[in-house]
Amino acid sequence: MSEEVNPFESLQEQVDDAAVHLDVDPGTLERLKNPERVLETTLSVEMDDGSTDVFRAYRSQFNGARGPYKGGIRYHPQVSRDEVKALSGWMVYKCAVVDIPYGGGKGGIVIDPDDYSESELERVTRSFATELRPFIGEDKDIPAPDVNTGRREMNWIKDTYETLENTTEPGVITGKAPDSGGSAGRVEATGRSVMLSAREAFDYLGKQTDGATVAVQGYGNAGSVAAKLLEDLGASVVAVSDSSGAAYDPDGLDTRAIKERKSETGDVTDYDTPETLTNEELLTLDVDLLVPAALENAIDGDLAEDVQADVIVEAANGPLTPDADDVLTDRNVRVLPDILANAGGVTVSYFEWVQNRQRFYWDEERVNEELETVIVDAFDDLTETFENRDLPNFRTAAYVLAIERVLTASEQGGTWP
Ligand code: NAD
Repeated sequence: MSEEVNPFESLQEQVDDAAVHLDVDPGTLERLKNPERVLETTLSVEMDDGSTDVFRAYRSQFNGARGPYKGGIRYHPQVSRDEVKALSGWMVYKCAVVDIPYGGGKGGIVIDPDDYSESELERVTRSFATELRPFIGEDKDIPAPDVNTGRREMNWIKDTYETLENTTEPGVITGKAPDSGGSAGRVEATGRSVMLSAREAFDYLGKQTDGATVAVQGYGNAGSVAAKLLEDLGASVVAVSDSSGAAYDPDGLDTRAIKERKSETGDVTDYDTPETLTNEELLTLDVDLLVPAALENAIDGDLAEDVQADVIVEAANGPLTPDADDVLTDRNVRVLPDILANAGGVTVSYFEWVQNRQRFYWDEERVNEELETVIVDAFDDLTETFENRDLPNFRTAAYVLAIERVLTASEQGGTWP
């Protein structure tokens, strides 16, 4: 992973790359590249032994032209102000690409959750939710899960908010457990949109998913579901990885068995495979499809020279640096960008919010059908923009499409003095 590349600078470069193909004045461009506001706070939390630990936490609200700010909360030692700003900007353009009525936000706490007990994590989460309370709400800003957070943390945030506000407002947060107002299909949604994007891209490029070889970097929520659903399409998932390294079998892995083993031991490399690889070796395997599903900057310009995959579908946010993008465009490796490919998570979050507000719940079949419609329509819009504007790659096409939608909403709102 390239440590030097600042994800916020990557986001700004991606917007600049698209703006070349749009008629945007310099002031508007600055607005498209910077958050409207960022909350930075310090949480003081009592530990189980009676001592107090402090944690830095952030929430960035990037752009609300198209609707309430929307985006996850990440728990990770590498969370930083710039990372959160970048992730919140990606959310703006992601929601616009799939045309759901949200702006973009993102939050994070600088913490390694493995170092804390469940009760300590609950107090950390409730402390953050208390700080967030004035800024969030179902019509203001709607957090969701991200790396190292899930239903449990979302339920705590909902409960803290509702207790302090003396109300019931399940739509204040998405990614909840079903009995707390969560949607069917939410856990699988991100991996499902990765599979759908890969399926559409292969079809568009005249390739077969049946029999295609696949490598997946990062075997968490997004990666493991994508792997399973790609296997269901007939693809052969030959390598998967996590922080411990990569499991590799050129004849294809059993994605469900490996997931089960990982949930028992914590590491994919504990699964019995003919070979293990490093993450770098996985990223440069000669496969038909590569799915980076871990963190930002997994592939930099140097590594991109060695990538042998024909198609990359980004499950993670920002897994390619701008240099990597340039190299892969030159080498004609097709990259389906994160802001479309992993948009299933936020799309089903949107469905969850709609169901919460209507207090009327859909079954999983309906959720999956509606999601498929959204992703396929967005893919068609993206490829139409790509062809009609003669753009260099799918990422620039996605940003051109998204920025135009954000600009239209801003222009319709006019300028407030
Ligand atoms: P997760 O915590 O469930 O999984 C992350 C996985 O990546 C873990 O298996 C971890 O071991 C692995 N990992 C971490 N560092 C690694 C490295 N250097 N090399 C290889 N593997 C590594 O997280 P997730 O929810 O699956 O999120 C993964 C990515 O997908 C993130 O970029 C996240 O922002 C993005 N994403 C997730 C969702 C969602 O709904 N979960 C939605 C949109 C985008």
